Amino acid sequence: MGGVVGLFNDPVVAWTATIAVLLLACLALFFFARSRRARIARDQVLARERRLRRQFEAVMSSTRDGVLIVTRTDEIALLSDVAASVLGVSRDDAVGRPLARLGLRVVDDRMRPLLLREAFGVDTNDVKPRIIGVPGRRGPEDVRWVQVRARVVPDGLDEGPVTIVTIMDTSGLREAAEAISRSDAQFRKAMENAPIGMALVDLEWRLMEVNRAFAEMMGSTVAALRGVPFSSLSHPQDLHAERDQLGRLYEGHSSRFNIEKRYVRTDGNVVWAVLDVGLVRHAGGAPDHYVVQVRDSTDDRMHSEIMAHRAMHDPLTGLANRTLMQEVLQELLDQPDPEFRVGVLAIDLDGFKGLNDRFGHATGDNALVHVAGILRAATGGRGTVSRIGGDEFVIVVQDPDCSKAMYDIAGAIHDGLRRPIQVKRHQITLHASVGIAMADAETIHGGAPALLSAADAAMYRAKSLGKSRTEVFDTSMQHTSDRHSVLAAELAQAIERGELVLHFQPILELRTRTVVGYEALVRWQHPTRGLLLPASFLPLIDDRNLSVALGLSLVDQAAHFLANGPSQSTWVSLNVSADQLGDSEFADRVLSAIGRYHLSPQRLVVELTEVSLVAPNTRIRHELTELRNAGVPILLDDFGTGVSPLSYLRDLPVSGVKLDMSFVAGIPEDPAGARVSRALGALARELGLATIAEGIETEDQAQFLAECGWRYGQGWLFGVAQPAAAVRETTPEYAASLIDPRPTDGDLGSHILRFDNDR
Ligand code: C2E
Ligand code: CA
Ligand code: CA
Repeated sequence: MGGVVGLFNDPVVAWTATIAVLLLACLALFFFARSRRARIARDQVLARERRLRRQFEAVMSSTRDGVLIVTRTDEIALLSDVAASVLGVSRDDAVGRPLARLGLRVVDDRMRPLLLREAFGVDTNDVKPRIIGVPGRRGPEDVRWVQVRARVVPDGLDEGPVTIVTIMDTSGLREAAEAISRSDAQFRKAMENAPIGMALVDLEWRLMEVNRAFAEMMGSTVAALRGVPFSSLSHPQDLHAERDQLGRLYEGHSSRFNIEKRYVRTDGNVVWAVLDVGLVRHAGGAPDHYVVQVRDSTDDRMHSEIMAHRAMHDPLTGLANRTLMQEVLQELLDQPDPEFRVGVLAIDLDGFKGLNDRFGHATGDNALVHVAGILRAATGGRGTVSRIGGDEFVIVVQDPDCSKAMYDIAGAIHDGLRRPIQVKRHQITLHASVGIAMADAETIHGGAPALLSAADAAMYRAKSLGKSRTEVFDTSMQHTSDRHSVLAAELAQAIERGELVLHFQPILELRTRTVVGYEALVRWQHPTRGLLLPASFLPLIDDRNLSVALGLSLVDQAAHFLANGPSQSTWVSLNVSADQLGDSEFADRVLSAIGRYHLSPQRLVVELTEVSLVAPNTRIRHELTELRNAGVPILLDDFGTGVSPLSYLRDLPVSGVKLDMSFVAGIPEDPAGARVSRALGALARELGLATIAEGIETEDQAQFLAECGWRYGQGWLFGVAQPAAAVRETTPEYAASLIDPRPTDGDLGSHILRFDNDR
């Protein structure tokens, strides 16, 4: 021991020990300082982590979306408050547990149970949102719909990646989406079943969706039309018809528009369609797509085209009628320098009346159609061929060398007629008298009527020189008394002598085939020429007094027939043309005849013919109203032809209509005739008018018309017009088989026309 103490007395040892102690002290100091710094740093880290955690919790609870974190071993690492409440589980129970033991039941959108791993997309890294249902306890309707979206991320530790699932309650959204899809479905259903064509069209005017009616209209299918540019269906001539209006709609200058245009069906047929176009905008106002309603207007179009065509054409031959011919001629004369370039041929058949009387109307009609063909061929595009009366034709010619062209045409007509036509077992040759007149200073001044009457004068000269020839007009003809005035003078005497007589054609109720009345048709019992039909003498009357006198004489005949007729319940309808009316003479005569013969006024019916030639002025209307007020029914004859017959229905006190024969002739083969008959019938019934169809020659026609609602009918199928005596003789047998003793209509107990409208 003393040795050790002694060592410290050694100065070297003492220094060494001191230095060692100092070194130890320094070392201790160093370690102490270092551990303090580490503690401070750890405290700071912990504080930061606490802060971050608070911020994280705050973020978790303030977002709408909840978060669930699942480790690679399927353990729940984190469940935010929001997630817990959306899923309806306790957060504290969940964290640290395996996912499968979360105690949660989930289903897919069709209520099929799902595994939780699958439901949350654990380890799938499938960021597409999916909808799962969390059923509650209050029955099958109680389901909370939740949108989940999974993402797999490395967690930065060695434990491997975790799946972060965001969870969103979508119940509100889903209800809204369901409501939208419900109304969408309703709209689609309404669209699919709409009888009218409908299309949803995008802003590039491409069909997004169309319905069946639309597809049918275009002759295609819904599937084939989807995505097709709407304009590719358009008729080339109407390609851009809607462009400007679409622009205005898009710019917001209009809210919708209508347009009628043509489309070409896949079968190549053209349809007319009325489009009603509206623009659907987003909530913000930006255009989204167009909604288009499409109505097939082809029938309307055809109807008005047929009407327009009928108004200007002869229904039998299809040639231009008098109105159109006069228009064409006047137009040519109004052009500069018509002289020697414009001319007219007047053509009248020789012996046509004989043919008609001998073989009947049908044969006559066939012959007229045949002649029309010859005239067309002879003219060959150098002019307009028209039929202006029974067997009278006019050709308006325009040619640089008009004189030569007219001679050529006349020659070709005579040549063409030389070939006989076969009628039953007979060969018949027709001939024509042709008059030619060329526009000159005088006729240009006088207009179309002057040139026509010049050609007429030449034609009468041809007839008087032995027929079947051509004459050219010269001024000497103006002074020769023409055929018109000769006949007119003869006619005046004929009326006085009682040569003009009425024949009566039966009118039947189509359903019961009961004779209900007769149409009175005038005939001229000519002393030398035999029985003449009205077409051969009525057009010749250009003296109004004469036609009024004729009308008055026929009133008495009709009344006499009624008073002595086969039945006390039938009516007689008398043809009156508008030019026979106006000064109440006719109405006075009708009313006095009714009084004298003690007739029910309903039995004398007035059939207004050629109404379109004379606009119904107030005096005519007044006279008709007088008759109507006295109980005399007024029928509009030749319904469906002429100029705007519909306006006459409105303007005149009409009780019924007679369907024009030209429509009946085509039934049932000609679809246009059938369609027009049906449409006119519907229209007349709609207006409460009595409906009579004439010119019925076949059983098919009678049946078709009856089915279309035409109540009464007449025609050769039921009987031709006969003299009063013949009707009286034949009717008793007729009556025995045809007249139904039972009353057809309420109080009538007879077949007197029922006229319901009291205008
Ligand atoms: P409307 O009034 O249209 O008379 C019908 C015409 O058709 C009559 O010709 C009649 O005989 C004929 N008809 C009758 N059933 C058929 C048939 O089944 N097929 C064919 N193709 N025709 C048939 P009608 O007697 O030659 O009379 C022609 C026109 O003369 C009449 O046409 C009428 O506008 C006029 N008319 C006749 N009588 C008079 C009258 O007393 N006064 C006036 N102002 N005009 C009359
Ligand atoms: Ca008539
Ligand atoms: Ca008629």
